[in-house]
Amino acid sequence: MKDNKDDLLCPSAPLTKESYLFGVLNEQAEVQYLDSVVPVTEELLAGFQHIEQPEKHFRFTMTCGKDKCAQWDNNKCSVGSAIQKAEIKEINTKPARCGIRKACRWYSQEGLAACVLCKYVVTDASI
Ligand code: SF4
Repeated sequence: MKDNKDDLLCPSAPLTKESYLFGVLNEQAEVQYLDSVVPVTEELLAGFQHIEQPEKHFRFTMTCGKDKCAQWDNNKCSVGSAIQKAEIKEINTKPARCGIRKACRWYSQEGLAACVLCKYVVTDASI
């Protein structure tokens, strides 16, 4: 997995053969971050085929598509910008440990404010 500034990672990626699993949503629909990222192998991909909209239950990452992505706007990820602006009572809480922070697009753009809200994001892979 790449992790330099030119190849930052999308933290809300669809499930594909190129993606990595890095979080699981719990019963409260909050992301529990894995200690390390897990490549989506052919076997894992086959296992996910039995789950309707796996992106609503798991969080995947892959290299940010920048201007190839519908969420890219004004040279930034608009999702990262939007969650950073959202009002939430937990803004002063400490963000959870996350396996992709060094290379995360949202963290790179918005800092830890994005991380505090990130656990509430449910990916809509249909967009
Ligand atoms: S925004 Fe923060 S918590 Fe969310 S994926 Fe990026 S580094 Fe991890």
